[in-house]
Amino acid sequence: MQLSDYRYQIQGVDVLDIADEFGLPLYVYDANKIIEKIGSLRSAFQGVNLKIKYAAKALTNLSILKLMKMQGIDIEVVSVNEARLALLAGFEPGQIMYTPSGNAWPEIQEALEMGLQLNADSLPLLEQIGQTYGSRYPVALRINPSIAEGGTFKIQTGHENSKFGIPNQYRDQILALVEQYQIPVVGLHIHTGSDFKDSNTFLKIADVLFDMAGDYPNLRFIDFGSGFKVAYREGDYYTNLNDLGARVSAAFRSFCDRYGREVELCFEPGKLLVSESGHLLVGVNVVKENPTRTFVQVNSGLNHLIRPMMYEAYHHILNVSNPAGAEQLYDVVGYICETDTFALDRQLPEVRPGDVLSLENAGAYGFSMASNYNLRERPAEVLVYDGKPHLVRQRETFEDLVRGQVDIFSDELVAVSDDQVV
Ligand SMILES: *Cc1c(COP(=O)(O)O)cnc(C)c1O
Repeated sequence: MQLSDYRYQIQGVDVLDIADEFGLPLYVYDANKIIEKIGSLRSAFQGVNLKIKYAAKALTNLSILKLMKMQGIDIEVVSVNEARLALLAGFEPGQIMYTPSGNAWPEIQEALEMGLQLNADSLPLLEQIGQTYGSRYPVALRINPSIAEGGTFKIQTGHENSKFGIPNQYRDQILALVEQYQIPVVGLHIHTGSDFKDSNTFLKIADVLFDMAGDYPNLRFIDFGSGFKVAYREGDYYTNLNDLGARVSAAFRSFCDRYGREVELCFEPGKLLVSESGHLLVGVNVVKENPTRTFVQVNSGLNHLIRPMMYEAYHHILNVSNPAGAEQLYDVVGYICETDTFALDRQLPEVRPGDVLSLENAGAYGFSMASNYNLRERPAEVLVYDGKPHLVRQRETFEDLVRGQVDIFSDELVAVSDDQVV
């Protein structure tokens, strides 16, 4: 195939046609990619009772949640509002795991009354549950294993200086509270952040939980959270699911033998399931030559995709409308009044005003972290499902942006003097 014949397609649908139909900037998700990721995670684990819970915060769109539900997986939420959306999507309360991090007590009570599976993240919370409900609500315990691995400082959550979870050094205190109030402990959980280097880390974490499981004879599940690394560019390291699955499954089977019965082995992937499925399509406003750099200025920015500025994340960029152009070096930047760089010194086929670029791996923590900074609308979202693009969220409008604002001066203005009012 000639490069000039190249068409960037999702499920056979031309990406440029999607851009034409729905406008730019636009988030586009490929349902098949999500389904494929769930399948590869499932097939990597053998001989264990595997349960996958989608970490909803990665991409919180109702249709995405329904797609997850249709694949037979459960869901993990971090706020009661995420739980409400999960209920709207058709999940049963018992399929929803709620993992607070220092959330207010009234919200925790609401979660319990909704019937969610609570994952307690602190000793004070455990004590409050014991005092208020005694043995009435079964809980899981989020343990911090004091293992610093996985990604950069901003995304590590399992080290001893992290706010997350109950430190494993408090094993005795946890057990004392559980016994004092007869709290039913049905699950043990660890989530140590993203981007593990290898499966050894998972095995180390697993050992912490297998060890602690001895304190709790009525466990229904052990949850290893997430931490799967996805590749952002050619040659990038990513979690080898088959290697991980084989090693963790073996360790888990022998744990179940020692424990005396089968328990569920859970994971809570967010990024792994949705990152690759998502593309942020943007239009090129201006190509600006400065003495030292050439800037590609697009009609989006850190308001729509904050990962490059927040985590120094790399997002691969394609020039969808001019794939055969001569390669040049560009800085791809947003339109926000703030340093707002998507990519530095990026080699791209010649970029012209009006071109359509695709920022890849934009499904996870893209739209869900988007804001209205600079009073910009958030983009529309499209899900390509069954070979057709479907609008799954409308583009915001100016009316959406001012909704909820209260103008305390409008009456006063009228009162000053009738003939001064414009
Ligand atoms: C964010 C989060 C996840 C998902 O992490 P990914 O890196 O997106 O896979 C899983 N579990 C909990 C408790 C989380 O907070």
